[in-house]
Amino acid sequence: MTASDRIKPLVAIVGRPNVGKSTLINRLVGARKAIVDDQPGVTRDRAYFDVDWTGRDFTVIDTGGFTDARPDEPFAERINEQAAIAQAEADVIVLLLDGRSGMTPIDQAIANDLRRLKKPVIAAVNKIDAPQQAGDIAEFYALGLGDPIAVSALHGFGGVGDLLDAICAALPDASPDTEGEASDTTIRMAIVGRPNVGKSSLLNALSGQERAIVSEVSGTTRDAVEASFTRTRADGAQTRFVAVDTAGIRKKSKVPYGIEMFSVDRAIRAIREADVTALILDAETGVTDQDKRLVETSNKAGRPLVIVVNKWDCVSNKKPNSHETYRKELLSYLPHGDFALMIFVSAKTGQRIERILDAVETAYANARRRIRTHLVNQVIAEAVSLHPPPVIKNRGLNILYATQGEVDPPTFILFANDAKLMKDDYRRYLEKKLRESFDFTGSPVRLAVRTRESRR
Ligand code: GDP
Ligand code: GDP
Repeated sequence: MTASDRIKPLVAIVGRPNVGKSTLINRLVGARKAIVDDQPGVTRDRAYFDVDWTGRDFTVIDTGGFTDARPDEPFAERINEQAAIAQAEADVIVLLLDGRSGMTPIDQAIANDLRRLKKPVIAAVNKIDAPQQAGDIAEFYALGLGDPIAVSALHGFGGVGDLLDAICAALPDASPDTEGEASDTTIRMAIVGRPNVGKSSLLNALSGQERAIVSEVSGTTRDAVEASFTRTRADGAQTRFVAVDTAGIRKKSKVPYGIEMFSVDRAIRAIREADVTALILDAETGVTDQDKRLVETSNKAGRPLVIVVNKWDCVSNKKPNSHETYRKELLSYLPHGDFALMIFVSAKTGQRIERILDAVETAYANARRRIRTHLVNQVIAEAVSLHPPPVIKNRGLNILYATQGEVDPPTFILFANDAKLMKDDYRRYLEKKLRESFDFTGSPVRLAVRTRESRR
């Protein structure tokens, strides 16, 4: 893979079987490439084709290349899958229609789904082989996708050029400078942790203001306190942080029932409403059950996680590798937080306070990372060949293909011969391989497995 692979915009061609998707792609690619390779197995790049039209480069995804390989599967599911692939990947979507057979309810259903994606969608009506058939496109205006473009994929009638023009006009600006264009971001962070670990002190140190009331008496900051502050990034854009300090989760036995319920509920709500969870620990007292619960809550909500070990000034006998030793020790009590970014700070001395915001920004960005499907498949294929799934009673897990369905948290969908054959340890292995290949540090990663019959 080269850098230019990554920045080429992607165009997905979707539509019912037999409308002429493959024919159109052959036409667009300009070569009569046979698209017949539908061996079950992890799909590699066979559904991606590079197109150059008057100097604009883009890659076409043949979504049918993924999904039409399994004709035994219900139609609707294949169409849904095409839409999912297009949604996950494409910058522009072409809905291909058949001018010969006319509009069908399935075309309408696909159009409805696509309209919701908030991506440019172009309706193209194929098999308009002669100018006198051009009237056949009229009924497709009803799809609500703008002016349909008449094409003849088979004969390369002039409309194909119109389609290419329309695609190019809808492509995002391809100049690399605009790829990561500086834009202002607001990140909401939930500052959670037990009472007295230093949440209010940290919030004050971060915002440079006495926003939160700090007190020696546990529970003073009972209500959530919000503070916002802004940092200018290296690219000139600004990140605004809105930090919510929640009252700590208090030990059940020690507080009246009402307050405890309120606090727990508030922390959970703050996590759900935030973009990133910052769990504050006290370097001296370590991890408690409440911290475990907060990590679980955060994970369940799919939030990126930063673990801030505060009161680092209180730790004596620090050695060069104390961070590593501490990290291992703390994570042995918080195994579900092992993906988190962990930093060691002191609200009292201000040591490494700024790094909290670096970590929050990193976790936020990593949670929004989107990986192209062909790269996902490459990693999964390599992982599988390195360490194939175990075969149980002659049945082995066969992963047909994989795609990243969502970001925040990154969610990978693996289509396999039988989802039940995916065991937890193998799922963890694949997650580990994905994490080794792509930087998701600080973010949870999810793997969903769906059953698909493979063609024999
Ligand atoms: P896909 O299933 O959507 O990929 O469709 P194919 O590309 O395999 O095409 C299905 C059938 O439609 C084939 O028999 C093609 O030859 C035919 N076809 C494709 N494009 C055109 C066209 O522009 N005009 C006509 N008349 N037939 C076409
Ligand atoms: P909260 O209940 O989690 O909001 O905790 P507070 O911010 O109210 O802090 C509880 C106590 O810990 C206060 O006495 C703080 O002065 C103290 N404290 C907070 N951060 C630090 C730190 O980094 N080092 C030391 N030594 N004390 C701290």
